[in-house]
Amino acid sequence: MILLDGFAVANERNLALKQLTDEHLRKGERLPKLAIILIGDNPASLSYVKGKGKACAVAGILHELHHLPEDTKQENVAALIETLNQDSTVDGMILQLPIPRHLDEEVLINLIKKEKDADGFHVINQGNLYQKRPTIEPATPKGIMTLLAHYDIKISGLNAVIVGRSNIVGFPVARLLMDQGATITVCHRQTKDLGFHTRQADLLVVASGKPHLVTKDMVKEGAIVVDVGVNRVDGKLIGDVDFDEVKDICSYITPVPKGVGPMTINALLENTYKLYLSHSKEA
Ligand code: NAP
Repeated sequence: MILLDGFAVANERNLALKQLTDEHLRKGERLPKLAIILIGDNPASLSYVKGKGKACAVAGILHELHHLPEDTKQENVAALIETLNQDSTVDGMILQLPIPRHLDEEVLINLIKKEKDADGFHVINQGNLYQKRPTIEPATPKGIMTLLAHYDIKISGLNAVIVGRSNIVGFPVARLLMDQGATITVCHRQTKDLGFHTRQADLLVVASGKPHLVTKDMVKEGAIVVDVGVNRVDGKLIGDVDFDEVKDICSYITPVPKGVGPMTINALLENTYKLYLSHSKEA
């Protein structure tokens, strides 16, 4: 079994970004900047935001955190997004999810200018993805594809099974894998006999948010397993795949933590840099 070491690969790529941003600095140009909007004090979100800030520092990308109280009104978040949309020093912007329930996530995400949508969640950017047009790819699917490519895993012809169909992980990762020639099955809560489908997978991507949903008996020998899930159970972070059992029968597997998580952050930074380059061209 080969561990898909997202932590090491992401770090290497963040350092490569640093070389690029250093070069802009040497030329007297401004640095890319990511604005992060965090609403409330969800401990997992606080920790993700901290990780994003740290990675920005490694990559030479500026970041600013806008931390708003839990009871912030929709119009106040909208006003902040509009200010950041107008701020020419901000290249990328993200709204850290989940947001409090009284706020309309879909509306707020789509208020972020698509040219600053570093997470690739804007409806136009997602539409472009589904029509195979140039776009900003959603960070987690992009990070997964980058990780597979780093290990030289050929996607074409594989039976890929994805557990989860969310707009930010399952559905777009299915699209990206299909574009690279995989044959796709997407499973969800209405899927009958999940194990039947997962056992057909040469490549299994699990993004259900259900701790240890996938056990050894649900995985084909030699499969490539990508575990997107992050679940805190008894103070420990665990994935949607029972890593200890499954690692012995698969060919490749991502750990949790230090698998898909750091790759997602790296993809976010690479998206921010891409947006920065397009803004610099326009200036
Ligand atoms: P989500 O929006 O809650 O979607 C979960 C998906 O899994 C849904 O499509 C759901 O089906 C499906 N599902 C849930 N239980 C299932 C079951 N028992 N059998 C089959 N399908 C099932 O979650 P998400 O935002 O996609 O995130 C998924 C997980 O990835 C979470 O643990 C999240 O924390 C993690 N995540 C990690 C990263 C990272 O960087 N590592 C990034 C994003 C998300 P229905 O559609 O039928 O409800």
